[in-house]
Formats: sequence, structure tokens, C-alpha cells
Amino acid sequence: MTAEIPLTAEPSDGTPSPEPKYKGLLAWPKEALEERFVELGGRPFHARVAREQLLGKGVLDYDSMTSLPAQLREALKIEVPLLAGSCTQRVEARDGTIKLLLDFPGDESGKGGGVETVHIPPLGAKRGQGATLCVSTQIGCPVACPFCASGLDGLARNLQPHEILEQFAQGRAQGELRRVVVMGIGEPLLNFENLTLALEQVHEIVGLGARKITVSSVGFPERLRQAARSQPRFQLAISLHTPDDDQHDELIPALRGTPIDEILAAGDDWFQVTGREVTYEYVLLGGTNDSAQHAERLVRRLGGRRATVNLIPYNSTRGLGYHRPAPEDVEIFATLLREGGIVATVRYSRGADGAAACGQLRMRA
Ligand code: SAH
Repeated sequence: MTAEIPLTAEPSDGTPSPEPKYKGLLAWPKEALEERFVELGGRPFHARVAREQLLGKGVLDYDSMTSLPAQLREALKIEVPLLAGSCTQRVEARDGTIKLLLDFPGDESGKGGGVETVHIPPLGAKRGQGATLCVSTQIGCPVACPFCASGLDGLARNLQPHEILEQFAQGRAQGELRRVVVMGIGEPLLNFENLTLALEQVHEIVGLGARKITVSSVGFPERLRQAARSQPRFQLAISLHTPDDDQHDELIPALRGTPIDEILAAGDDWFQVTGREVTYEYVLLGGTNDSAQHAERLVRRLGGRRATVNLIPYNSTRGLGYHRPAPEDVEIFATLLREGGIVATVRYSRGADGAAACGQLRMRA
């Protein structure tokens, strides 16, 4: 291990030093990092202090980690780059929502690119209680929903666990975190192993547990059944968007041919295995899936389930050909669901003046 990592940035013969073995502090396995800290004159526990400062407190430079010895900090600055990605844009909307565009370098496949992380402070009475952080799991997305900006260019690659974690560090640097929604760019169930590894650290170091983390997925049934039986736990939201199989094939192309009933059965299984209720998300697209008949068919589809439907009035993305329904149509849709015995909530996107939703900042860059 020691032999593979150069002790100095520049070897004495003047040739450029090789690429660091791990990109960013959070990419290092725990024990290797402790060893490296000792080699650089620190103590093993300093490695944990640095991880906690970065991930738990959002301290984004070694100079500010004043609980580490000054000499160690100087060595770390040269030998252990703190972050793999760089923040290339920061947009603060009028409502306080902060959107970050984080750029990650190419991996062994050569592919890298930008993802969005959004820091959403609570409004009104909850002000000051810590924000919700929205994180991405993939660079691009292979699901290709025709109304969503995230998948317009397909998938570049999965994010590595440390790249998912760096979003927490960058987000925490904007202010305290109270909740996490995995609703950024990408389909979490298609990068589940890396997400799980990252969430373990979030649990351990950031201190956010299952109840505070919501993962949103289009709901690949087999993967959902596996996820229900894995750790760590989280809240589940399934993007459904329509009660009709034909339209589902159109709106969520990666699930073409999978009957909605199979997805709902996997949702029921989730509830049975985890004891946690599923939320169904429904993007309201004006003139596409927002009619009274859609609401009635959705009630019949979900009939008898203990489920919440979260209605998301569409955040218009230029050029995609969908639009947001009028507020009164949103209300009618919600009322019809409630009359059918379903708990329905309406969620308007925050930070709309800063190209808020789902891959829009990235497309603008
Ligand atoms: N791939 C995951 C996470 C996506 S983002 C999933 O599909 O669930 C979370 C939600 O935002 C999804 O329901 C997605 O369909 C929705 N969404 C995408 N683009 C949107 C837009 N422009 N306006 C409103 N919601 C959008």
C-alpha cells in the first residue's frame, strides 16, 4: 500500500507524480486512509476527524480543519486531495433554495460530467430547522422519461459512493441538513449498490437515519423487492405518473412492458417487508395525465391501499412539449383523489426562478 502512493507531490527526478490512487478523501477505504494519515505524521483518529469535518460539517478545505495538527494539514493539502468533484455553478433562488452544479472527472471509462445537488431550506414556521438536500445518483439517466430534462442525453455513468457523499459535504457547507431526498439526476435503483454504500456513511457520520431519507424510483419491481430486504432502510417514493399501462409505457420508457400492477405489487411487498408506507409520485402534465378520468382510474388502481399520492405540478422544461396544468385543475385532481379515499398532497417545485427541477441547471450550463 505504502509503496503505491507517492509521499511527495513531485518525485525528485522532475517527472510529474502519478495520479493519486483515490480521488478525494471520501474515496479512501477507512483503514488505508488511517495508514496514510500516520505516514503523513498524524494519528489514525485524525482520519476520522477529517471525514467528520468534511461529510458531517461541510468543511471544504483542510485549512479550516483546525482540530488537525497544522503540519498534518499542510501535508494533506499536497498528498490527499480533499474533493474529487468541483462546484462549477451555484445558483440561489429567491426562496433561499441553492442549486449546485458539481462536476466529476472521468473514471476508468473516461466519462465524467455534471450533476445537480439542491439545498432546500424550509419555509415559514420551520425556518432555521435545517434544510432538505436533494442528491443525484447518476451522471445523466437511462430511463428517458420524455418530460424530464435529466435523461435527454442518456446515461454517462453511475456516480461512485464518494461522489454521492461529496454532495452531502457540499450541501452541508450551505447550511444544516434535516432531510435527504434522492430525487436528483438518475435512477437510484440502477445504482443501488453505490447508493447503499453512501447511505451507510450518511447514517454513521451525518447522523441521518431511515426516516429522514426518501429515495424516489420509477420502481423496477425485482429491484424493489431486493431493496426492501436490504440495509440501510429509507422511505420509498415510486414515480407512477399515470393509471394507464399504455401511457406508463410512454412516460417511463425504461419500464415499457412492465404492467403497473406488478409495480404496485412490489410496492405492497415493500410495505409488508419494511412496515413503511409507499408514496406514489404523480407529475401532473397539463392535457396529458391530469383529466378527471385519470384521477378516477388512479383511485381504482390504488383501491384499498394505504398509500399517499404526491402530486407534482410539472415544472416546464423548454422544448419538451409538456406544460403545467392550471392551479384549479391541480386542485380538482387532488380533490378527486381525496374523495376516492386517497391521501393526496401537492408539491410545487421550490427555487423555480433558478432552473430548479430535475436536470435543468445541468442542461443550461
Ligand atoms: N429517477 C427517479 C428520481 C427522479 S426525480 C424517479 O423517476 O423517481 C423525482 C421526480 O421528479 C420524479 O417523479 C420525476 O418524474 C419528477 N420530474 C422530472 N422532471 C420533472 C419536471 N420537469 N417537473 C416536475 N417533476 C419532474
